[in-house]
Amino acid sequence: MCLALLTGVLALPVGERRVAADTFVAVVALGVAAVLTVVGRRSRASRRGWTLVAGGLLLGVAVGVLADVVGGPDSPVDPARTASSVPAHLVAAVGVLSLLGWSRLRTGGARLLTESALFCTAAFVLAQVLVVGPLVRGGDLSVASRVALEVSCAAATLLLGAGLTLLTATWGARRATGAITLAGLTGVTVADALAAVGSTGPFGLTDLATRGVYLAGLVLLALAAVTDPGGTTTDTQRERQRLTAGLTLAGHLLPHLVMTVAAVLLLGSALLVGTPTPAALVAVALGLLLTAVHRGVSARDEVRVGERLARSEAWFRSLVRSSSDPVLVLGPDLVVTWAAPALDGPATEAGRSLVGVPVTESVHPQDADAVRAWLADPAADAGPPSGLRGFRLRAADGTWRVLEAGVTDLRQDLYVRALVLHCRDVTVRSDTEDELRSLAFTDPVTGLPNRAAHLRALGDELADAGESPAVSLLLFEVEGLVEARENVGRDVVDVSLIEVGRRLRATVRGDDQVARVGPELFAVLAHGVDGEPDLVAARCLSVVEQPIITELGLVDLTAAVGLVPLVAGLGASTAIDRAELSVLAARAAGPGSVRRYDPALGASRDRRERLREDLVGARARGELALAWQPIVSLSDQRVMGVEALLRWRHPGFGELEPEEFIPIAERAGLIGDLQRWVLIEATTAAAALPVYGDPLRLGINVSAVHVASGTLVGDVSNALKASGLEPERLVIEITESTVLADGPHVEVDFAALRLMGVHVALDDFGSGYSSLAHLTRLPVDIIKLDRTFLARIDKDPHTRALCESVIGIGGALGIDVVAEGVETPSQLAVLRSMGCGFAQGFLLSRPLSLPRFVALVDSTAGQLWPGLVGRV
Ligand code: C2E
Ligand code: CA
Ligand code: CA
Repeated sequence: MCLALLTGVLALPVGERRVAADTFVAVVALGVAAVLTVVGRRSRASRRGWTLVAGGLLLGVAVGVLADVVGGPDSPVDPARTASSVPAHLVAAVGVLSLLGWSRLRTGGARLLTESALFCTAAFVLAQVLVVGPLVRGGDLSVASRVALEVSCAAATLLLGAGLTLLTATWGARRATGAITLAGLTGVTVADALAAVGSTGPFGLTDLATRGVYLAGLVLLALAAVTDPGGTTTDTQRERQRLTAGLTLAGHLLPHLVMTVAAVLLLGSALLVGTPTPAALVAVALGLLLTAVHRGVSARDEVRVGERLARSEAWFRSLVRSSSDPVLVLGPDLVVTWAAPALDGPATEAGRSLVGVPVTESVHPQDADAVRAWLADPAADAGPPSGLRGFRLRAADGTWRVLEAGVTDLRQDLYVRALVLHCRDVTVRSDTEDELRSLAFTDPVTGLPNRAAHLRALGDELADAGESPAVSLLLFEVEGLVEARENVGRDVVDVSLIEVGRRLRATVRGDDQVARVGPELFAVLAHGVDGEPDLVAARCLSVVEQPIITELGLVDLTAAVGLVPLVAGLGASTAIDRAELSVLAARAAGPGSVRRYDPALGASRDRRERLREDLVGARARGELALAWQPIVSLSDQRVMGVEALLRWRHPGFGELEPEEFIPIAERAGLIGDLQRWVLIEATTAAAALPVYGDPLRLGINVSAVHVASGTLVGDVSNALKASGLEPERLVIEITESTVLADGPHVEVDFAALRLMGVHVALDDFGSGYSSLAHLTRLPVDIIKLDRTFLARIDKDPHTRALCESVIGIGGALGIDVVAEGVETPSQLAVLRSMGCGFAQGFLLSRPLSLPRFVALVDSTAGQLWPGLVGRV
């Protein structure tokens, strides 16, 4: 289109060409000015600048038209016409500098100023050589014209200088704007210069070219304004760095380049054409001076920058050296380009320097993949590596040091281009953590995993468990430790526990876990299907039951074992609950029993819980009662005493045996109340019993828990007082567990009871850990032979021998022996033949209600045992 226009212009008559072309140029200039004003408004920072540049253009057009009108179009060196461009150029120069803003100009400092000045000077020399020189030589110029020419030349070079300043002092996207602006300004000023040189003849090609260059300059200015992002763009650190480096180069080179070209042209023109203009010579001299100044300013800057760099490097190095925290710098492919002495020193001593090798080859092989993934190239990953990572690095002695590292990604930094790892040596902390972890999960006595570790392992097994169980939980409650402590000593308990742990460990499979989960509890996670865990339990039980030989003596232990197959969906707490229920069942079944979990066990627990709740008001509701079982003298065949046995008539479950509810009462803390009621009730009833011959003795059972509570003596004397029963008629029956119970008051209490005249009987003798030694520790008046002991008396010679000896010792010590649980006449016969004094059992009488017992005593007048006369 431009070409068509130009051809159109050339087709016009000569006189009209200039007017047409100038009109066209003026219209375009107005358009560009409008564009600059409108587009410049986009940003606050550039509004003033572009408006001023537009103003300069308008001024140029207006003044040009005015000059044409006043001076006539054909006199280009007319002073008025020549000087007409000066205000326009000056306004535009101010506009261009405004685009930068004063603060930016100030920060540019002396160097920017010298560079711009040098550029201006060089441009000025060029103008002198190319424009002013030929004009001066070409014709007689009036002084006014000459001055106007020089001033116009200076204004044009100032405008170009402003353009260069814009280019060198900006960065980012704005630098392109600067470059386009400079090109546009160059077009405009060159067009002016061409106009000054060539417009002497009729409007020809030169004039057309001049207008063309001017138009190109205008278009470039419009383009610059359109592309200008404004001064408010936030430049990234990266862009700023990159462009500062580039701009320094532009600022450094361009003025010198133009100056050199100008100087060469000046020299050439001086040689070929004639003497240069004085202004050109002055300008060259000034240019040389400015070159020197620029060099000096640059040198000063370089020294400053160098010093700053040296300072920061020294600071960095001293920081890194003095810091005990090691730093690694990783170049491309994660190759270590620098390693702090704290890291590299040990690695070098270990025979392998870190520097020059990818860090992934220096870390522990197990950590290499994780480190590689962590430090992956951000292009391949979502973002730059972040967070903390731990990895191991070889120490001087060949061991592994544990490091924890954070990373700073400086790969995009022009000057660094590396990843910097800030490491911390956490070897000690990691060791301590490991130690703590192992301490937290280890039983201090046996060295086995403890309850916490067991729970974790159990959780893991349950998570993996399927429908058919492949792993079972075995819970061992070791029995006999209390006796071992009593008989052999406290130290032996720990030795025994260690030995039990060792034996269990040696008995189970390698992948079965043995843990100590309580003072007397061991747990085994045994792998195996169907009946295999039962076999493991039996094997384990047999090794526990083998005597443990210690320096202090033999220890005999046994265990109650609960077995729970681990099936899918079972929670850890439910599994443990079931194991405890099974252990309870095993314990109830007797020492050395194994019980597999059965849902019925859960039902029995529910029953126990119900009983515990109901026991609270049982006495007040009148649900308690006593059963009376006669004790018979075998020598004179008459009832000489009676044992009061507690009964609970439960509204839901019917009559309950004491063996079921007494342990519940003991655990629920209700036994004291219960016992006091028995004492009062029994003594009161006994005091009212009919007396035939010697008054009947009354046996009352007391539990170890009640004795341990320390209220026994008070409760007994209260009962005696309340009932009026003679103390000599009362027999307090205690078991061996009471004798074994700790506490200084046990012996004192029994001594007090005996002083009161109350008799003490040792109950259930022959069951469990009977020892005649107890008889010396706690003097008793009566021994009651346990019924399990008696069951085999008529069949087993050993039992019979044992029984005989107990009776013998009793006789020697003046202790009465009562045989309990006599169920058959043959048992009775054997007992009689041994000289046993007393008997109690279903053969003689079952426990009776009080009225029936009174009726029994009354009917025989208490003298002879009915039905047995003649049989014993
Ligand atoms: P124990 O002191 O050994 O009481 C004797 C137990 O043997 C009674 O069971 C009695 O019914 C039973 N018995 C008597 N003769 C025979 C026999 O020939 N064959 C068999 N198989 N058993 C016989 P009971 O009444 O169930 O009492 C159980 C245990 O409950 C008692 O054992 C005693 O330890 C405890 N107990 C009973 N009453 C009280 C009490 O008031 N306080 C405390 N603390 N415990 C009590
Ligand atoms: Ca008893
Ligand atoms: Ca008994």
